Amino acid sequence: MITPHAALSTILRKIPPGPEISLPLKDTPGHTLAENIFADRDQPAADRSAMDGFAVRAEDLSHLPCQLRLIGEIPAGAPAVYRVQPGTCVRILTGANVPDGADAVVKVEETEENNDIVTFNNNIEQGANIRRQGEEAVEGSRLLPKGTILGPVEIGLCASVGKARLTVFSRPQISVLCTGAELKSAGDTVQSHEIRDSNGPMLSTVISLAGFTMTEHKILNDNVETISEELLLSASQSNVILVTGGVSVGLYDFVQEAVESIGAVIHFHGVSMKPGKPLLYATLPENRHIFGLPGNPLSVLTGFYTFVLPALYRLSGRDETLCCNNITLPLSHAVKSKKGRSNYKLARVTWNSDGPAVAPLNSKGSGDLASGRNADGVIILPPEGGEIAEGTKVEFQSWRLMPW
Ligand code: AMP
Ligand code: MG
Repeated sequence: MITPHAALSTILRKIPPGPEISLPLKDTPGHTLAENIFADRDQPAADRSAMDGFAVRAEDLSHLPCQLRLIGEIPAGAPAVYRVQPGTCVRILTGANVPDGADAVVKVEETEENNDIVTFNNNIEQGANIRRQGEEAVEGSRLLPKGTILGPVEIGLCASVGKARLTVFSRPQISVLCTGAELKSAGDTVQSHEIRDSNGPMLSTVISLAGFTMTEHKILNDNVETISEELLLSASQSNVILVTGGVSVGLYDFVQEAVESIGAVIHFHGVSMKPGKPLLYATLPENRHIFGLPGNPLSVLTGFYTFVLPALYRLSGRDETLCCNNITLPLSHAVKSKKGRSNYKLARVTWNSDGPAVAPLNSKGSGDLASGRNADGVIILPPEGGEIAEGTKVEFQSWRLMPW
């Protein structure tokens, strides 16, 4: 059986980024840039005031107290039409261009104003409270490299340099096939031998919260022909197919057979993790990917965050190193783990006196969504097992998404 790390690197190595597309800026949050972004002019484009106050010649304030004649006002958005001569000053508002002749701005709080005469009681250094032209970026310099993930700061920066459209990597389309003869929809009545499909609505939610599109969701019977036909149909409209259930070795587990029957190549079937051991990954030509996720809802989610989400990020152009967002946090309590497989245990982020920590949670197994609702994610306990002491730093996989 392959380890989770080896499984993830197998997947990421098989996936080239999808095609590049041009989108309006407002449609690009969470996308990966497929072009470099340059400053279209100096930033700031001129010397600007960082304060509300008075633009002065610093030299005029070398003998105190000093009184200067107010000759005008420059609000933000107005051109700086004045020239500050010796003995004069100009009222200036934050963000306005500094007028010719002035070399400092005095904060309004440090002045007194009376009938167009402004009194100053302190010296000021040349350049004080002025944001210099080009101090953040000079015209032509690269502000964002290709491969950048577009969050609010990056999109704000693109807007500031006049990029109304961006070339980004496209995102995959995803089909979800939930197998199981026992499955009904949430609106259906159920008998005691039936259950309602949780995996479809869960995957639809996590897919859309992560910024991707689920093109279809179907519930399928445990029948190899049905599953094969639906896999082929999904492959014609999606880059990624998620199949839940039926991936283990039971008598009615037909996913492996169906995947093989449509000519997909299986790269692994079985990962040394708990839950999620029977997980399967296969590919079809033209950058199409199939994940078989064991049917229990918490196995499905664990498999999704561990393998599918990184694959979706990679397909949407992220560098391999940016596809997995796990972090480490100290344990708030000691925890015991069985030897054998990596143990993905439900956990909640808490705070103790030293800052954020992670509390392991108990559950009644990988079908127990009622316990799952208390979790912010899972901690990944190593296969060596044993007791892990309070305060030990462990790997934490967040299930609370921040798509950029
Ligand atoms: P399987 O992987 O098909 O052996 O399913 C494992 C367990 O997960 C069984 O108890 C199934 O009833 C349950 N299960 C499978 N699919 C779903 C689903 N879509 N929603 C909720 N539970 C499911
Ligand atoms: Mg089943």
